[in-house]
Amino acid sequence: MPEPIYLDHAATTPVREEVFAAMQPFFGPRFGNPSSVHRWGRDARTALDEARERVARCLGASPDEVVFTSCGTEADNMALIGVWRARHGEGRRGAASTPIEHKAVLGALHQIGKEGGDERLIAVDANGLVDPASFDEQVRDDVAVCSVMWVNNEIGTLQDIYALASLAKSRGVVFHTDAVQAFGKVEVDASKTPFDLLSLSGHKIGAPKGIGALYLRRGTPMEALMFGGSQDRGRRPGTENVAMAVGLAVAAELAVAERAEEWSRLEKLRDRFESALLARVPDAIFHGKGAPRAPHISNVSVPGTESESLLIALDLRGIACSAGSACQSGSVNPSHVLEAIDVRADLANAALRMSFGSLSDDASVDRVVEVFATLAQKARRLATA
Ligand code: PLP
Repeated sequence: MPEPIYLDHAATTPVREEVFAAMQPFFGPRFGNPSSVHRWGRDARTALDEARERVARCLGASPDEVVFTSCGTEADNMALIGVWRARHGEGRRGAASTPIEHKAVLGALHQIGKEGGDERLIAVDANGLVDPASFDEQVRDDVAVCSVMWVNNEIGTLQDIYALASLAKSRGVVFHTDAVQAFGKVEVDASKTPFDLLSLSGHKIGAPKGIGALYLRRGTPMEALMFGGSQDRGRRPGTENVAMAVGLAVAAELAVAERAEEWSRLEKLRDRFESALLARVPDAIFHGKGAPRAPHISNVSVPGTESESLLIALDLRGIACSAGSACQSGSVNPSHVLEAIDVRADLANAALRMSFGSLSDDASVDRVVEVFATLAQKARRLATA
């Protein structure tokens, strides 16, 4: 069998060698607890402080504006629930977001609802772009926090975060963006774009799973979600994961350094995939294609096929991709993102997400098109036989 092909970089990415190498000493001699006063502790503290400075630099931020978290999900939860809890007493019971967010945001929004908050959903158009009239209507001066993802993880839609953050802030609304799929693709700079909070996840950019970060603009009100020691200024108690913080810093620096080149490389790969597939399957439909998109995601439906069986058939031929997002896999429910952009149920059930990254090249894309087109045509013949 030919080499397996990984086209699921939006689910997770391999740990980069540089990241692994930088982390290793912290599983060995540099094992100290950053809160200890002795030399081992001081060494760990220095490493942690350096990692925070490096992540902050990658975000155009100050080190005190970076909170390390266990993952992107935790950062999203902290941003929404933490800000809402700190502000709802000011007559701001609302929390607003879009229906195409990752479940980490939608779950946090739902929790706010359970705590007595007013959940508001901002409508999106057929490509997943925020509808300005709906934003204007939902994000009013009784809203504590608004969250809009920078890049959608299923269809790649890229929002105008500058405009949305500016409008929210003009109404005194704290603005959060989930940049888990955006970081390393778009320029994320807190000194240029007026978001108040921003979430990152290490495993989407070549660091291990289990590390994330929350950018928190100085002065933004937020209650901690956990209680305990005074680590991270009390914002995130618990002994810090120094190795992972160092890994995230290295991965973030590499992602920023390679960003512009990686954007055009991935864009060419995605366009190659989409145009070659269209040449073979002219009625293939690419979701979100009518809006600005990040270059690493292509979400396609071939009418008359079914994604679960295609996924299995592709896997048997060594090709890994996904139906919707990774956390959706194994579920028979159609993607909430495709549902929110009004994709017909049969097309939503046919959708596959191919996501490109460090392991992708022209040859792998060409083989995927060949195998996918053949399988899809066969599935259609069987369905109509
Ligand atoms: N937000 C988005 C847009 C994502 O794609 C993901 C992961 O798939 C997350 C949040 C959650 O990140 P993590 O897996 O680090 O919890």
